Amino acid sequence: MENMVPDIKLLDKKFRLYIHASQIEETVKKMVQKVADDLGEDACPVFVGVLNGVFMFMSDFVRHYPYVCQVSFLKMSSYEGTDSTGKVKTLLGINEDLKGRTVVVLEDIVDTGNTLVELHSLFKDKGIKDFRVATLFFKPESYSKDLPIEYVGMDIDNRFIVGYGLDYNGVGRNLPHIYQNIEDK
Ligand code: 5GP
Ligand code: MG
Repeated sequence: MENMVPDIKLLDKKFRLYIHASQIEETVKKMVQKVADDLGEDACPVFVGVLNGVFMFMSDFVRHYPYVCQVSFLKMSSYEGTDSTGKVKTLLGINEDLKGRTVVVLEDIVDTGNTLVELHSLFKDKGIKDFRVATLFFKPESYSKDLPIEYVGMDIDNRFIVGYGLDYNGVGRNLPHIYQNIEDK
């Protein structure tokens, strides 16, 4: 079945099916199960999604989450231009009081880990009781930080992917499957 999904073109690049929607669904369900088991019934976690890429993952994750929880979002962006230090800035922050709360940050993908470093500094002085990170996709070959990632849905190749919320220059977020770029390399 899976090889019946045709290649696609987005702007100037070609992409090929990499992870089928059904496999994503299985992975998300497993992650939810693990988080729910670990946190238990009474934790009332705040799931904080990192926009924009996380919107589909967040939506699928929380609709399967079996216990009471809250949902929030923040938005970060890499600095434009020639800054190669990988600094990221916060465009939309968190307004909730997180003191004494269980916070699980949901990320679509962790690549170099620069965003993760910024997230940790963003949350570190908020008196959070229990801070965890859950990422759907993880590029182990690219990750260069020491910060722990408590929940990883899938390790993937160090290649550019689109779909299921992830974009290429603003397009492709609506695709239900994950596609991998086939023109690089
Ligand atoms: P970081 O390098 O800070 O771990 O990841 C920064 C951001 O780069 C991610 O949150 C994601 O928005 C973007 N990113 C990393 N790898 C990919 C990829 O393969 N495809 C897409 N569309 N975005 C990616
Ligand atoms: Mg992201």
